[in-house]
Amino acid sequence: RFITFEGGEGTGKSTQIKKLADRLKAAKLRIRVTREPGGSPGAEIMRHLVLSGMGRLLGPEAETLLFAAARDDHVRTVILPALNQGTWVLCDRFADSTRAYQGSLGRVPAGLINAMQRVTIGDLKPDLTIVLDLPVEIGLQRAAARRGSGTPDRFESEQLSFHQGLREAYRKIAADDPARCVLIDANSDPDTVAGRVWTALRDRLLP
Ligand code: C5P
Repeated sequence: RFITFEGGEGTGKSTQIKKLADRLKAAKLRIRVTREPGGSPGAEIMRHLVLSGMGRLLGPEAETLLFAAARDDHVRTVILPALNQGTWVLCDRFADSTRAYQGSLGRVPAGLINAMQRVTIGDLKPDLTIVLDLPVEIGLQRAAARRGSGTPDRFESEQLSFHQGLREAYRKIAADDPARCVLIDANSDPDTVAGRVWTALRDRLLP
């Protein structure tokens, strides 16, 4: 099974993935937790390139192609081999992040995004996508608290309107594909949100 977690900044994706992985491991399932951008040695190098100051030197198309190159490596070297062995893969961000960040926010034409998705993921589709939804002010406060005194990454420092557009983009993605996506209210304590995630997964994927 292939499960992806999506959402804007500070929505709690990594916390929720960890909680779900622990629960599935306790049920004796083989689990691989991974993330994007990154997730394989080659893709982690590209993650560093886009998220560091170097990302600002790239135009939107070049940046999107770099995300795509990272995904291509991650899918071929990590995700597909794990799924082929019957391991459940839990991935922090996947193709919907490209649609939300690079596509819906209007920086990159849909044609380029679609072409890249065909090359990098082909027919691979998550069995379930959890979209964590939260008012952007709360998400950004959480992200700032997590970062402490460190500098915000390239995307966290975008305008509030960027993050609002992002939230809308994710809500639309979830509404357009209800067979795959579940929109989860992430504005509660982590265990309550984990309960909502578990219910969604149990209803859809467990016998
Ligand atoms: O989820 P995480 O915080 O690790 O993601 C790193 C950053 O990469 C995020 O700030 C997100 O804004 C950005 N990103 C992006 N486009 C993607 C995936 C992630 O801009 N396709």
